Amino acid sequence: MTSPARIDLHTHSSVSDGTDSPEELVAAAARSGLDVVALTDHDTWDGIDRAGRAAPAGLEVVVGIEISCGSAGRAVHLLGYGGDRTDPALLAELDRIRTARRTRVPDMLAKLAALGLPLSTEAVTAAAHGTPSIGRPHLADAMVAAGYVADRDEAFADYLAEGGPAYVDRYAPEVSAAIGLVRDAGAVPVLAHPWGRESREVLGEERLLDLLEVGLAGWEADHPEHSPAEGAALHRLARRAGALATGSSDYHGTGKRNNALGCRTTDPQVYARLRELMG
Ligand code: AMP
Ligand code: ZN
Ligand code: FE
Ligand code: FE
Repeated sequence: MTSPARIDLHTHSSVSDGTDSPEELVAAAARSGLDVVALTDHDTWDGIDRAGRAAPAGLEVVVGIEISCGSAGRAVHLLGYGGDRTDPALLAELDRIRTARRTRVPDMLAKLAALGLPLSTEAVTAAAHGTPSIGRPHLADAMVAAGYVADRDEAFADYLAEGGPAYVDRYAPEVSAAIGLVRDAGAVPVLAHPWGRESREVLGEERLLDLLEVGLAGWEADHPEHSPAEGAALHRLARRAGALATGSSDYHGTGKRNNALGCRTTDPQVYARLRELMG
């Protein structure tokens, strides 16, 4: 008898804010004993083809993306699986999000400088290593390199988290609108870490059920930012509503310590339903 497939549906490469290249990521996934891994970089598919080409035999790479959305002023992350990566409406929205990521960087640097933590353009460019999707973790890496903080967590806790002294808001589509765009592109929308630190206040049970009405397929139940009790509640809610409840690591390489590949996994039967929806 073979053991059940190990499936991790949410990971990041250095194409966004992970620290493994797409090639390193798929190699690490195979070493971790995963059978299926989805690459879900923030607001870009640029790493997908590289991951697919580098995948060792026996490892399935799922096309994914994590779209930076919002609701009522809070960050909400939406995963999209499969679909048409040339869909003009979705590509235009992703471009708008990535542009907003770039344009807020000078504002955050100004805030850091005012706090006595200046960073040179070169330092930020080096930390961003060519990503099309620059984010706060890259600024955190530049702060680590400058010796201002010990690691990304300290940078977020003291400066970069929502409401922190160097935080700057940026454009993000309303999650219900993004669900429509993902569906229209033929992809399957699944909410990332709904009860994670930035979105739990705006994604209560009622709201999750409402989002199913506008086309959401399900949500992550098992995630490092969810307690076991929260994960269990999200599984129960999904079962009641006929929604998918996935489990994933949200791996970021060395960028997130509690997110080892495969530390949370998706039930093979849930993955089979997701594949059906992906068509
Ligand atoms: P951004 O793309 O600029 O919105 O930054 C989002 C990224 O930063 C995601 O990978 C988050 O998981 C990570 N992040 C957000 N808040 C924190 C936090 N408090 N500590 C560590 N990482 C965080
Ligand atoms: Zn990230
Ligand atoms: Fe996320
Ligand atoms: Fe993520």
